Amino acid sequence: MPPEPDCRRCRLSEGRTNIVHFSGDSGSKVALVGEAPGAQEDVRGVPFVGRAGKILDGLMAEAGLDRERIMITNTVKCRPPGNRRPRPDEMAACRPFLHEELKGKRFVLALGLSAAEDLLGKKMVMKDVCNRQVKADLGHGDMTIMVTYHPSACIYRPAAKEVLRDALKVAASYL
Ligand code: URA
Repeated sequence: MPPEPDCRRCRLSEGRTNIVHFSGDSGSKVALVGEAPGAQEDVRGVPFVGRAGKILDGLMAEAGLDRERIMITNTVKCRPPGNRRPRPDEMAACRPFLHEELKGKRFVLALGLSAAEDLLGKKMVMKDVCNRQVKADLGHGDMTIMVTYHPSACIYRPAAKEVLRDALKVAASYL
């Protein structure tokens, strides 16, 4: 069950234009989870359609990942003011929706540490965890979770882009 159209579970509802629901195939075995909608996503109601989305699209195309064949979503469905990171209570308020979306997935790629910490429930350091596959159970059976760089972290960092590129190839192998 997705958030109700007038969802007020957290303060992010106060500034949103649109709730940004997942895009793609809800029945896919593969999901990508970002941090939170940005300005463009808020206006269009679709995840990853701004600058970070363009980077993601390019790398997904290289990996043979089609937007329509996977699920793309975020930890929170409403844009945080000024694009700040979502706070723990905001992620907690939206978590039931995220976990519902991820039911039945075989592979979930956490894009950035917000998504990683939301999914795995602990603080992490990217260089220690990136591109390692870990088994996790979000309440509906085992899945593999991999943490990698958020596309925005790749704008000026070719090495991070390389890591994200490799992670998307792993994601493609689960389809
Ligand atoms: N960044 C995210 O984490 N998610 C989006 O949907 C867009 C930018």
